[in-house]
Amino acid sequence: MGSLPANIPEPELKDFNPLDLEELRKQAYQTVDFIVDYYKNIESYPVLSQVNPGYLRTQLPESAPNKPEPFETILKDVQNVIIPGMTHWLSPNFFAYFPATVSSAAFLGEMLCTGFNSVGFNWLASPASTELESVVMDWLARLLKLPTSFMFSDTGGGVIHGTTSEAILCTLVASRDRALETICDENIAKLVVYSSDQTHSTLAKACKIAGILPRNVRVIPTSKEDNFALSPTNLRTTIEADVEAGLTPIYLCATVGTTSSNAVDPVGQLADVANGFGVWVHVDAAYAGSACICPEFRHFIDGIERVDSLSLSPHKWLLTYLDCCCLWVKQPILITKVLGCNPEFLKNKPTELNSVVDYKDWQVGYGRRFRALRLWFVFRSYGVANLQSHIRSDIRMAEMFEGFVKSDPRFEIVIPRQFALVCFRLTLSDEYEPELVELFNQDLLDRVNSGGKMYMTHTVIGGTYVLRFAVGSTATKEHHVSAAWNLIKETADMLVGEC
Ligand SMILES: *Cc1c(COP(=O)(O)O)cnc(C)c1O
Repeated sequence: MGSLPANIPEPELKDFNPLDLEELRKQAYQTVDFIVDYYKNIESYPVLSQVNPGYLRTQLPESAPNKPEPFETILKDVQNVIIPGMTHWLSPNFFAYFPATVSSAAFLGEMLCTGFNSVGFNWLASPASTELESVVMDWLARLLKLPTSFMFSDTGGGVIHGTTSEAILCTLVASRDRALETICDENIAKLVVYSSDQTHSTLAKACKIAGILPRNVRVIPTSKEDNFALSPTNLRTTIEADVEAGLTPIYLCATVGTTSSNAVDPVGQLADVANGFGVWVHVDAAYAGSACICPEFRHFIDGIERVDSLSLSPHKWLLTYLDCCCLWVKQPILITKVLGCNPEFLKNKPTELNSVVDYKDWQVGYGRRFRALRLWFVFRSYGVANLQSHIRSDIRMAEMFEGFVKSDPRFEIVIPRQFALVCFRLTLSDEYEPELVELFNQDLLDRVNSGGKMYMTHTVIGGTYVLRFAVGSTATKEHHVSAAWNLIKETADMLVGEC
């Protein structure tokens, strides 16, 4: 340690203990109380935060404090300064985007995950972390009735990533290097990736990271007649044209439940086309995949045995807290061949004997959290039957909302409801120009959201401005859905009355 100039006193750090266990016990209990009270009072806050950009900087000091501050003071600032700047995703009146579902079981699993802070990059670094992840991935695979070729019990396997974006990136690079093995690295500019105009923009991002040229990312148009699903015929025509032009098709991202409107691409038929050209098929079922644990919705992934990989995010619909994206692959070796590394400082017997899964080779980063605990707690605490009824109850509430919309002649359902998302709009009557109708809908959305009583979002699909009402926040009950509809209707009354 360097010595300090004589006039500066030595800081009193000798008693510093960042893991004082009795303090931790006390403050952790206080924090749990704080969170439970937050959940209890959540309806008293505006769902969509009402603050302006930069609101926080003016309320906080310019520099971090030099001396410790009491825990109570910090928690008070969370209440007074942070919470007003939050959009409350857990509010039962949150109907925006796709919901981010939570549960007591996953909360407790997350507490343990954080508490253990086990950094299981390879098996040896925390065997339970790796093995529990493999077990719950097989459990969920079985629940979804995936073929055994996606399971560790056979030749496949699953991994928990943070986000769908990572799952897409990792499978994309696997398909890229598989193709480059045949056509050589210098031909990377020939590789082509396929998607529809409804595919999540994260695919384009992954292509940039993976070195696929933007001009080789095919965005195949969809139409209202097909309910915005990707047409296998159009896929075939596009691929054939590329092959004709001397390019190499490598990867198709099909979506079950698109982000805009929950369109469902026909997985089996698309796989039949893609397989003929040696194209890797990935199914992105980030939101809607969870519904496939119910037998009546399983048909949405029919044909899954003919694809290469599937990802879905239980944090969207299966009560597990962010972040939790489950990715299954048929040939994990194709990913680990690309992402696998074997630095000296991680060398160990079990890895050398090839007897274990080292998840660092299945993902972007090295360090990884013990995320499987959350899923394990959810499965065990609720059982499959309750998870299925949770999905069904959200869909029933969305059906109820759909019924409200249909009962009012000023509104229309723009795209048939899928799962728990209703895409609708105010149409008024034929005498209004389309531009004016769009303005009315924008205004309706702004007014409803700025009131703070509920939050929903919009999309534009097939050129039409559409309001999205996504049911599924864990705390949402029928009366919240009815109240939301009443508010929408009353706001529409006001708008129409003003013109
Ligand atoms: C939410 C969503 C994504 C993006 O997921 P991240 O986990 O945020 O990367 C991708 N695809 C679909 C279909 C989604 O609904």
